[in-house]
Amino acid sequence: MIHLYNTASRRKEEFVPQHPSKVTMYCCGPTVYNFAHIGNLRTYIFEDLLSRTIRLHYPLTHVMNVTDVGHLVSDADDGEDKMEVGAAREGKSAWDIAKFYEEKFWQDYDALHCTRPTVISRATAHIPEMIALVKTLEEKGYTYRTSDGIYYDTSKFDRYDALVGHARISGLQGGARVEMSDEKRNPTDFALWKFSPKDKKRQMEWDSPWGVGFPGWHIECSAMAMKYLGHTLDIHCGGIDHVTIHHTNEIAQSEAATGQKYVNYWVHGEFLILRSGKMSKSGGTFVTVDVLKEKGYEPLAYRYLCLGAHYRTQLEFSYESMDSAAKSLKNLRQAAQQLPSAQSTEKSQSWKDKFTAAMEDDLNAPKALALVWEALRSAELAVAEKRDFLQFADTILALDLFTAPVEKNVTTEIPAALQALLTERAAARKAKDWKKSDELRDALLQAGYVVKDTPQGQQIEKK
Ligand code: AMP
Ligand code: ZN
Repeated sequence: MIHLYNTASRRKEEFVPQHPSKVTMYCCGPTVYNFAHIGNLRTYIFEDLLSRTIRLHYPLTHVMNVTDVGHLVSDADDGEDKMEVGAAREGKSAWDIAKFYEEKFWQDYDALHCTRPTVISRATAHIPEMIALVKTLEEKGYTYRTSDGIYYDTSKFDRYDALVGHARISGLQGGARVEMSDEKRNPTDFALWKFSPKDKKRQMEWDSPWGVGFPGWHIECSAMAMKYLGHTLDIHCGGIDHVTIHHTNEIAQSEAATGQKYVNYWVHGEFLILRSGKMSKSGGTFVTVDVLKEKGYEPLAYRYLCLGAHYRTQLEFSYESMDSAAKSLKNLRQAAQQLPSAQSTEKSQSWKDKFTAAMEDDLNAPKALALVWEALRSAELAVAEKRDFLQFADTILALDLFTAPVEKNVTTEIPAALQALLTERAAARKAKDWKKSDELRDALLQAGYVVKDTPQGQQIEKK
């Protein structure tokens, strides 16, 4: 049984999908005006853990958008469109910028072993759906016109503060969040459709019933999510920064349009931070997968680092922690690849169950990862059972435990008789029978193998 922390109720809840045989999930995707930084990618890794855990029980329809228009420099509708900023920065068209950075995004996403969504929806390919949604809101009386666009009147939607909690939205009403333009009725009102500026030609613009322009970023997600998943989604994910504005606005416009609940479970991932503060794309200083690769780290070492922290806690990035993640991953693969063949037994199944229970408990990846190390050290499991368990664990962890190359000086195949000695020695050590442990080590040495005792358990190498 899966339990997830729901931002809307502020507690962990049992996950019950609307239909017993399928789950729907929408994840806010990248704004493709620059490289994704590893903070963005932390969010996709947590979403991948969720997707893999759900797929243990249900078929999943996972939709992710690609924001290739309309996301302004400030999430609250101020400033320029990020796509146009990217185009000006690089002297390319906004369309070329979108294409280039989207391709790059998927390369990074794949390198981190995040499972591709079932549906990838680009904002620029869904303008008619967005216009239709704005029209519905207009017909229902939720919109008003200013000189620069069609706005959503948040005072007309009485549950506007539901996701964030009344106190926090009230604070924002004081104007902390948005520079209130003269024409906005409420500080929290947001643009559904923006008019192209009169003095310059935008690269991305479309006709609409209200005039030539482009969609607001929030309406994009609502229109695409509901097109592919229906009025009510089981799960909607994103980074924690999206709670106060983007997701709050998605709820307001979707529920006002359909009269139905938009999302049953809101699941948000905490930020990756730098010692110096938040990692941000627009700030210009950010670490990418390419930067990690240039420094000699493989992308999966970063996935390992992320698995070590719960998705709802902030994770501080440092190269020291990358070093230690890379080292642990290497040791884990070496240990995994020393296990010869796999055998599924009741015992290995019970470890799989423990692992699954950890993941199903609001994605407790640190605990699941700890179980993998524990299993390797365990005297309770035979070698073939360990391999069976680790193979299963790696379907969720996705760390290439068995296929990534490991260093050559470590044996990958140990004769079965010696394997038995090794298992016996693990049991002796567990029972603190040091005499027997030493005898068995000597026996292995006679047979040509050196045993080392490491924090990850016994490691064996050819003499
Ligand atoms: P963006 O491409 O800026 O629209 O962001 C893509 C995803 O990354 C969103 O779900 C954001 O909430 C998330 N995000 C942005 N910054 C960070 C960060 N420092 N750590 C974790 N997630 C982040
Ligand atoms: Zn979104």
